[in-house]
Amino acid sequence: MERDLYKEYEECILCARKCRVNRYEKTGYCKSGADMRIARAALHMWEEPCISGTKGSGAVFFTGCNMGCVFCQNHMISSGGIGKEVSEGRLAEIFYELADKGANNINLVTGDIYLPGIKTAMKRVKERGFKLPFILNTSSYLNVESIRSLEGLIDIYLPDFKYIRDEDAKRLSNAPGYPKAAKAAVDEMVRQCPECIFDETDNGSILKRGVIVRHLLMPGMLIQAKLIVKYLHDRYGDKVILSLLDQYTPNGRLESFPEINRPVSETEYNSLIRYAQSLGVKGYMQEKGSADDGFIPEFDLSGV
Ligand code: SF4
Repeated sequence: MERDLYKEYEECILCARKCRVNRYEKTGYCKSGADMRIARAALHMWEEPCISGTKGSGAVFFTGCNMGCVFCQNHMISSGGIGKEVSEGRLAEIFYELADKGANNINLVTGDIYLPGIKTAMKRVKERGFKLPFILNTSSYLNVESIRSLEGLIDIYLPDFKYIRDEDAKRLSNAPGYPKAAKAAVDEMVRQCPECIFDETDNGSILKRGVIVRHLLMPGMLIQAKLIVKYLHDRYGDKVILSLLDQYTPNGRLESFPEINRPVSETEYNSLIRYAQSLGVKGYMQEKGSADDGFIPEFDLSGV
């Protein structure tokens, strides 16, 4: 495989873990070397309506992850290693193939750990006049410098805001310092994209620039969820769209975490929605009842 070389991989501090390993020689916490790996590239209908629309989001699912969530539902790719190595040139081709299928955008799902290669592919297609917006779909456990380096390349940021208490981040995602990293990350995203702008050509329903912050409500963690909603609304107001997710589903491997080994109750989710509405939050709040694993795509190397 033809390979570009990147200084960033020689002592990797791409994400907040700052492993400082040379990814040309070994892997860091994310179990990923310097070559990009992808598990699936296909139209995806299950993002927020302004991302998926009716035609779908062109989702590229990268292999590996810098988080260590005990409740992960995508463990086949986050830690299971499923994926195929692709060059920057092949990734650029994938962008065009998704555009040909009618995608509204190119959705880089957990590409956080391969940003140098992804930036090369994005620059190549942009130089050739590629018009679709690029989305960074991220855990937010990133070094803020990594996000700065995306200015002018990423049009829509789709960050998770998983935790606001460090003890939860350490216990459930092995991610010390997550709240501080996520706050800095979202600050930088909003600096780059301070306004949500919709595409006028599609009945004004498709986002073409902006920040959507997601929070997945977890069982027994309603207070944390409310603290996160309050923090985000106080800090950013209507500059960001909030997306409050209710599809938490136990993954069958939570014997050591009985407190989160159940779905979120309707009472918990409705309480969060009422709270958000009382603050005047605008955003996406899902229909209760979507909590199953039907939204997990097959990581079968489609489109790779
Ligand atoms: S991307 Fe993050 S987890 Fe992976 S090697 Fe670099 S610093 Fe470590």
